[in-house]
Amino acid sequence: MNVSTLARQDVAALPLYSADTAPCAVDVSDNTNLWGTSPAVLDAVAALGASEISRYPALYSESLRDTVAAYLGIQNDDVGAVVGCGSDNVLDSAMRAFAERGDSIAFCDPTFSMIPVFARLNGLELVRLSLHENFDVDAERLVAAHAKLTYLCTPNNPTATTISRAAVEYVCEHASGVVIIDEAYAEFADDSFVDLANRHEHVLVTRTCSKAFGMAGLRAGYGVGARTLTRLVERARGPYTLNIAAEAAMRAAFSERGLEWMRSRRDDALQSRILLRDALRARALEPLESHANFVCVPLASAAETARGLRERGALVRALGGLPTDIPAFANSAGSALRIGVGPVAAMDTVLAAYDEVRACA
Ligand code: PMP
Repeated sequence: MNVSTLARQDVAALPLYSADTAPCAVDVSDNTNLWGTSPAVLDAVAALGASEISRYPALYSESLRDTVAAYLGIQNDDVGAVVGCGSDNVLDSAMRAFAERGDSIAFCDPTFSMIPVFARLNGLELVRLSLHENFDVDAERLVAAHAKLTYLCTPNNPTATTISRAAVEYVCEHASGVVIIDEAYAEFADDSFVDLANRHEHVLVTRTCSKAFGMAGLRAGYGVGARTLTRLVERARGPYTLNIAAEAAMRAAFSERGLEWMRSRRDDALQSRILLRDALRARALEPLESHANFVCVPLASAAETARGLRERGALVRALGGLPTDIPAFANSAGSALRIGVGPVAAMDTVLAAYDEVRACA
């Protein structure tokens, strides 16, 4: 018997996620925190002993719900948090909680590449619309899709651009199903939409500890929304998902000491972002305006440039197949580089490598 014939079609048809993970001197390819992680988090993980590690973690990390709500300034008792093994896990669980197989999820392309993957694994149909040329979403068309789920990502991966408040509010007010607002990069942006989770019962705002908090390896993320909604996401997620190290780390990350570290590294990232943007412009490149800890640079030769950078010790993400109805990507034949923002020395390595690649072209 060929066991692959027994597999669910959605699963068998899905390619494995493939990212270039071979070590490279400077890896700015995955938008993680290039300053590391907070000493408060390291201390909390190091302090774990056999008595904790040998037992199961909390069922639903109940004690973290208030910690998260306090960080986001939520004072409404009807609004709560759900934590997960990365915000990936919260997004995937939200799909299972609110959409049956065959229901649809609407979103604007390009966006977070795992959304179609989780959607397919959950048997959902994709309604892909295009971002406007100013990178805002088409709120009316999103609503007109009458999808069971609408996904908004702001700041958006991979463009680093934001969605206008008017568009997000329009979608939240008119969408027929649940609206997910993915704010994985919110700490690097000027605006946040957590207030909409406070205002609407059908809005889930997801966040992560993988980016500004520097905890990607521990896999900790969360979502906030009406308690009824977040409890349903928890049900779909299942018990014991957040391991004991991630739970301890999250508590430390949101402590005063943890937050102080995060904010000061975030400020460093904002400064580096300006330096990187200006340096790219000085090289006649046109990075999109970034509100995240990475920049998206439309470039027709993205794939070969990324290969050249890698050979010179700088790992960036080459993007292809971006919608060419967006003028910035039409000019670059749908290709771009995504470069993570990090300490000045790392940026210098990337830029020096780019200069060498260009000199060899
Ligand atoms: N949302 C967006 C927009 C992302 O870019 C990422 C990570 N790349 C995630 C969610 C998932 O992050 P995590 O699972 O590490 O919390």
